Amino acid sequence: MKHLLQIKGLRAAYGATEVLRGVDLDVAEGQVTALLGANGAGKTTTLRAICQYMVRTSGSVSFRDGRIDGKTTEQIAALGVGHVPDGRGTFLGLSTEENLMLGCHARRDRKAVAEDLERMFSYFPRLKERRAQQAGTLSGGEQQMLAIARALMARPTLLLLDEPSFGLAPLVVKDIFGIMRRIRDEQKVSILLVEQNARIALDLADHAYLLETGRVVKSGTSAEMRNDDAVRRAYLGE
Ligand code: ATP
Repeated sequence: MKHLLQIKGLRAAYGATEVLRGVDLDVAEGQVTALLGANGAGKTTTLRAICQYMVRTSGSVSFRDGRIDGKTTEQIAALGVGHVPDGRGTFLGLSTEENLMLGCHARRDRKAVAEDLERMFSYFPRLKERRAQQAGTLSGGEQQMLAIARALMARPTLLLLDEPSFGLAPLVVKDIFGIMRRIRDEQKVSILLVEQNARIALDLADHAYLLETGRVVKSGTSAEMRNDDAVRRAYLGE
């Protein structure tokens, strides 16, 4: 299996507080990899560290064939790493469509951009209905859809998705995860998914890592993780 992203010995700190203490993690091409763990384990920080966003890091992060740990957030995005951060990063005063177009401001292929916009509307018909509506007036589920669609407008090879289920009703979460499965299969985008809800994450993911206080303590295929006694007790409530 070819690895799209390879992380070795990744450490990250906010000021003097070290949060990641040597994380090793791989994302295989074409797969969904889930990063599970309790509150405060360092999941969000791992995604930020990959993008060199808001956090000081050491260790190596390779994407495709090159190191990206010395690059800026903008350079990493331009190489094909899309980040849907916690809090979603939506411009609430702009319309749905304006937000989507901001996701691809660096692209010059206008015809392909128009096609991608229609493709996003086919994945997320609610966004089409609300294309002219101010993003701040969208429901939580619609805002999450908008954040994912906006990141996809840049045609990333790897999508870093931070807690897409956060604060959403179970039916909306089911809907979004169903669409994510289609996107993985149809768009050739690999996904690193951060989730506290281990059950829905393992349903979508091919492979998963469990993070505890800044270290990977377990990893395996989703089936292996689902059958692991400790994972079942602590994260699946069984
Ligand atoms: P959650 O699901 O609660 O977000 P998480 O596993 O994603 O958990 P992180 O958000 O990565 O965890 O946080 C890991 C630790 O880093 C926590 O103790 C948190 O308080 C701390 N932390 C996160 N962001 C900052 C920041 N900007 N400044 C200082 N400390 C931070």
